[in-house]
Amino acid sequence: MTANLTKAPAMSCRGRFAPSPTGPLHMGSLVAALGSYLNARHQGGNWLVRMDDIDTPRNVPGIDKTILRTLDHHALHWDGSVYYSSQHLEDYEAAFQTLKTAGALFPCGCSRREISNHPVNSARQPGQTLIYPGTCRDGKAKQTPLRSYRLRVASSPIRFKDRLQGLQSDCLINSVGDFVVKDGHGQHHYQLATVVDDQRQQITEVVRGADLLASTARQIHLQTQLGYGRPVYLHLPVVKDALGFKLSKQQGATAIDDSQASQNLVIALTLLAQQPPGDLTSLTPAEIVQWGIYHWDTAPLMRMPSAALPPTSAN
Ligand SMILES: [Zn+2]
Repeated sequence: MTANLTKAPAMSCRGRFAPSPTGPLHMGSLVAALGSYLNARHQGGNWLVRMDDIDTPRNVPGIDKTILRTLDHHALHWDGSVYYSSQHLEDYEAAFQTLKTAGALFPCGCSRREISNHPVNSARQPGQTLIYPGTCRDGKAKQTPLRSYRLRVASSPIRFKDRLQGLQSDCLINSVGDFVVKDGHGQHHYQLATVVDDQRQQITEVVRGADLLASTARQIHLQTQLGYGRPVYLHLPVVKDALGFKLSKQQGATAIDDSQASQNLVIALTLLAQQPPGDLTSLTPAEIVQWGIYHWDTAPLMRMPSAALPPTSAN
């Protein structure tokens, strides 16, 4: 792995696809995989695959192999070996200790219910991110158990330019508050793991679904606190079904059928607004992907937050 990483020129584009092994790929995840692949390959860059497998209760044993087989069937071939986040827990802990030593973290004893019932969250809709009200910022009450370590956020907004969604500004203290990087059981959280993994894999361009746009300011804040560089961000349109619902494993989106790879790739290219000619489906997956690399153009995707599957295709 390390030997592979050092081969890449320092400034070349390095993209990645980081699925959670919690279910097979669906059309929404194939679009994210293809978009990040084409973006990297169009620039002559590398494309890496990472299994985001630290949320162990949700992992489905063996599904990582199914995901990799689907990528292979669709001619989305990755560089180097597959990176498993669960094999890098010591890196998350080292980053955690760096933040702790710098005084950027504080222990928190608040339960989810206490945070949810706090007046700052009275207007929140179900499923919306809870705002941490700052209860333990100046010290956790001694009698409460340790439930998490939180990273302090600033009151000034974090600004960044997303290559597709435009200029973004997120004042973390108002949108999420001080956020969890590690829970009381020692489990490191997604935001910290992602930032450490992107740094370890030397990712220069993060291409993923726009449903993760809201995580970006937290990740930038972590990069700043850890002294890491900041990758370029491109948030692709979220793929919705014909009824307007986001495709997701939780909602039971249909798994990708590997025997229909050419058709799947043409649908994915259409959802990425690449306007593939209709007769492209008669080509092999490798030929379709080559067409995609050559023609990759992000301009039609500008400020497009979502893309709808045609009603006739399976979701
Ligand atoms: Zn607290």
